[in-house]
Amino acid sequence: MPHTPSPARDVASSDRDLANLPKADLHLHLEGAMRPGTLADLASAYVTPTPEVGCYRSFDEFQHCYRAVVKLIRTRSDMRRLVREVVEDAAASGAVWIEPHFNPTTYAPALGSAEDVLDLVLEIGTAAGSPIGVGFGLTLSASRNRDPRDATVLARLAADYAGRGVVAFGLTGDEAAAPPEAFIEAFAIARDAGLIITPHTGELMGGPSIRSTLDALSPDRIAHGIRAVEQPALMDRLATGRITLDVCLTSNRVLGVVKHIEEHPLLHLLESGVPCSLGSDDPLLLKTSVLTEYQIARTQLSMTDQQLAAMASTSIQSSGAPTDFIAQTLTGIEAWLTRHVSDALGAETPNGPCPQLPHHAGWTL
Ligand SMILES: [Zn+2]
Repeated sequence: MPHTPSPARDVASSDRDLANLPKADLHLHLEGAMRPGTLADLASAYVTPTPEVGCYRSFDEFQHCYRAVVKLIRTRSDMRRLVREVVEDAAASGAVWIEPHFNPTTYAPALGSAEDVLDLVLEIGTAAGSPIGVGFGLTLSASRNRDPRDATVLARLAADYAGRGVVAFGLTGDEAAAPPEAFIEAFAIARDAGLIITPHTGELMGGPSIRSTLDALSPDRIAHGIRAVEQPALMDRLATGRITLDVCLTSNRVLGVVKHIEEHPLLHLLESGVPCSLGSDDPLLLKTSVLTEYQIARTQLSMTDQQLAAMASTSIQSSGAPTDFIAQTLTGIEAWLTRHVSDALGAETPNGPCPQLPHHAGWTL
């Protein structure tokens, strides 16, 4: 990457607890957020070797691992557990809103029709999140590795659920495998339904891939997109269009987009006026969490609490959350910044009492 790391900054206020900073995780894949213990339980139940996570020699290998995780979700009970735990883990990270990427057609007909699967995930996500202050929306995401006609079918389903739990439409998979032009029809359907448009791009491929995605799909947000840093004109276009990049630091390091976190262009993008949120991508496969991503931004990129709070604000403002929920969260972010540190310890979240969540074998730095 051509970016030169910024010099160390003043982090004098870094004793504010980042778990109490209200934030949205906009770049999260549902199955990729499975708990390690759940992965082991399912592998044991189905007498299958537990997929090895955390080290990949190629993006293909990473995708292969993801598919192995998906294959272990075989019943509606498995799906219920996954969704409930993903929501609980989001709360433990201080996330007040998540909108995971998900494709219900993957589980049809084994778990019911695509609508049945979607209804199940939305019902569990909402029910699990409500008492612990986590809002739940879904991003239905088509795969570049499938026939673009499948994307069009999925977009029609997403459009049917606009206003009923689905808030966004995305595109996943290897961006080198299929250009965005093949998905124009699908994204037009999603956009017409009022959904947020948020394809992956600018991760494995650089400026030309981002530019063609902007031209073909008119995204509101981009999952990754960090290689826009290679072209100042492209950063200007993102900044002017207020197109948010949902950035995942650990993912970019593990998958070799950057060699070291310290070389990550996040600060350069922000200083160039590009809106950025922080997301976890695949907590299971990358051994991270959205809280860990904020901690890494603080400790390894020397970001100040003001900068971290600004990214949290961007995350909720760029989300599909209801307007009053966004306003309430922004108030909470401001309170986190202004609250005295001693008050912040054990403080309440902006959406109600801080929940007592069961401890689990999650990932820490
Ligand atoms: Zn992703």
